[in-house]
Amino acid sequence: MKIQAVRGFKDWLPEDFAKYNYLINLAKSWIKKYNFKEIKLPILEKTELFIRSVGEVTDIVQEETYTFQDRNKDFLTLRPEATAGICRAVIEHGLYVKPKPLKFFTIGPMFRRERPQKGRYRQFYQIDVEMFGSVHALADAELIYMLDTILKKLKVSAYELHLNSLGCKNCREPFKEALKGFLEDKHTQLCADCQRRRTLNPLRVFDCKKEQCKTVLKDAPLITDYLCEKCKEHFSQLKGYLKELNITYILDPYLVRGLDYYTRTIFEVIIPGIGAQSAVAGGGRYDNLVEMLGGKPTPAIGFAIGMDRLLPCVPEPKERERPFFLALLGEEAVKEGLKWAKILRTNGIWTEIDYRLGSLKSQLNRANHLNALLVLIIGEDEIKQRRAILRNMDTKKQIEVPLNPEESLTIIKQQLRGE
Ligand code: AMP
Repeated sequence: MKIQAVRGFKDWLPEDFAKYNYLINLAKSWIKKYNFKEIKLPILEKTELFIRSVGEVTDIVQEETYTFQDRNKDFLTLRPEATAGICRAVIEHGLYVKPKPLKFFTIGPMFRRERPQKGRYRQFYQIDVEMFGSVHALADAELIYMLDTILKKLKVSAYELHLNSLGCKNCREPFKEALKGFLEDKHTQLCADCQRRRTLNPLRVFDCKKEQCKTVLKDAPLITDYLCEKCKEHFSQLKGYLKELNITYILDPYLVRGLDYYTRTIFEVIIPGIGAQSAVAGGGRYDNLVEMLGGKPTPAIGFAIGMDRLLPCVPEPKERERPFFLALLGEEAVKEGLKWAKILRTNGIWTEIDYRLGSLKSQLNRANHLNALLVLIIGEDEIKQRRAILRNMDTKKQIEVPLNPEESLTIIKQQLRGE
């Protein structure tokens, strides 16, 4: 029987990488302009980390993590998100003693055992950005502006930025009580999942996509009506900065996000029309998480871009490098070609040789197949006359160049630039 990939786990093939690298490089170039530093963390962490951070009564921890006991009987979990691991590392390495804000980003796979569907995988990739040490709304504005800029530069069209504030502990508790009271009367109208969530973690009810629950929630109390003075001030300051930065956003008092650790600002980027899984990025503030995990009180904010979902919405990048092809006829030409290949590649030129060394026609076919812009033809005559033929595959024009890579490099580079 053929062995296939595990359900929800997909292969990335070479053709997927033009857009993948374009996205990563563009995102990195902007992230670095804000002085975020790259880090890499293990994909496996102690299960307790996610129970204490993401929350024991969240869908992610209750149903979606890949958790197992290893041979020492330790409970381990494949990370479902990156923030908890970054906090763990900040605490473990005592990084919060460094000048703040601390800014990190990481790119890598996350794992959630959700039901696979279009845009939802069990292994998916995120670009994750986190900032520690600033409580000011300016940090929130800068981060949101950076995310918005990346999406604009990628030419992602028709996305919506949803924004809400979840307040702090002080405003959340009275709100939770009010919501619990409201949902109690509506218990029978809720779906089975939300009936369970209602008592354990009532905020999660806002995450439900079922129409029956959405209808119930239309009259529900909203967190924004429960914000304390400080949280209200923080939120209105942020909105002021976003206005200053000309960022269009939708105030969405129903937005809660699927993790427990958020405080104050939360946001999500949605692209309507790409299917049921339309959130391509999301993030928020988590001012208590570092302390909850045993570190010093350190306010923080971050976001994650879901690469698997965003990539299909990114237009194909225009600039595609095209190879230089060496068509070599005869053993002497092969030896000459090796010299050329070495020098061309040293000069940063992508150079191809067809190792089958067939007829000129078949080598030109191969060059066409590779979308080569230039072909250098070297045969017996060319070796004798110390001249080679440079063929432009687009214009079909051929010129003679000296059979000396150093001497011909300038003209080759000019032609590759389209001059
Ligand atoms: P979250 O932390 O759940 O808000 O995730 C941040 C982003 O990661 C989302 O907006 C999605 O784009 C992406 N994402 C989350 N879960 C999945 C999944 N199962 N498959 C693909 N992308 C995902």
